[in-house]
Amino acid sequence: MELQLKGKVAIVLASSKGLGYAAAEALAAEGAQVTLVGRSAASLVEAAARLKVKTGIEALTVEADITSAESIKRIVEMTVERYGTVDILVNNCGGPKPGKFDQLSDEMWQEGFELTLLSYVRAIREVLPYMRKGGFGRIINITSSSIKQPIETLMLSSTFRVGVVGLAKTLAPQLAQEGILINTVGPGRFATDRVEQLDELAAEQRQISIEEIQAAEAARIPIGRYGAPEEMGRLIAFLASPANSYMTGQSLLADGGTVTAI
Ligand code: NAP
Repeated sequence: MELQLKGKVAIVLASSKGLGYAAAEALAAEGAQVTLVGRSAASLVEAAARLKVKTGIEALTVEADITSAESIKRIVEMTVERYGTVDILVNNCGGPKPGKFDQLSDEMWQEGFELTLLSYVRAIREVLPYMRKGGFGRIINITSSSIKQPIETLMLSSTFRVGVVGLAKTLAPQLAQEGILINTVGPGRFATDRVEQLDELAAEQRQISIEEIQAAEAARIPIGRYGAPEEMGRLIAFLASPANSYMTGQSLLADGGTVTAI
């Protein structure tokens, strides 16, 4: 299948590592121009070098914290300055703070909202004029499997990610006639730096090795292993492409079959 991504311009938020980077690499491998975003300059340099080696694409890198409205504006402005437009937006963010309901203060709720939901709203608002002008747009929101199966210890994620689903579902019909499609993906457990840190923490807390934690986690996944970030990258590349021409407003889990609810 030809994804027809050659020359398309993509912004991927929070993309110096992990799932964001994997999405950027999958898009670049199909010939798209990409903007990488993250807070650490060193991680961005490393990510851009890796992307160049793997795909031949020279990414634009923007050092920015996506929780600020000004940063989101700057990311879009710099992309348009370099490439002339924006065709694809992959919304992604760092994971919100873990915690059960009783452990969360107003400040933590506010922070979680700004990171996981408001940053996505702002990015969509900034890219829409360019997508409308070009008569083409693809927006993909990275969330979590908590959109279908809430996770008790991840109260902020389980609350705000569902907000992203509502946002996408409400926007989809409003944008459909303009050639702009918006979909949401929910990862289960992928082997990224963040998940490794979480596994290390769990190993420390339970006084067992990280290998034991990982084996126990993998055993809970019907496919029997963690996802590889590239597997999420390929799904996002399809959703972001002209080859996806009829799917909008949908939420898709990539979780190795973990969530069994319909
Ligand atoms: P990761 O490996 O920690 O990567 C996060 C990326 O986001 C890094 O490039 C990081 O760079 C950037 N970032 C974080 N906060 C940022 C901010 N405020 N502004 C700009 N960039 C920021 O995480 P991941 O595992 O790929 O997860 C990505 C998202 O998917 C998270 O929201 C996570 O909760 C969700 N998720 C992941 C999984 C999984 O299995 N991996 C499962 C469910 C949900 P800097 O730190 O340099 O900014």
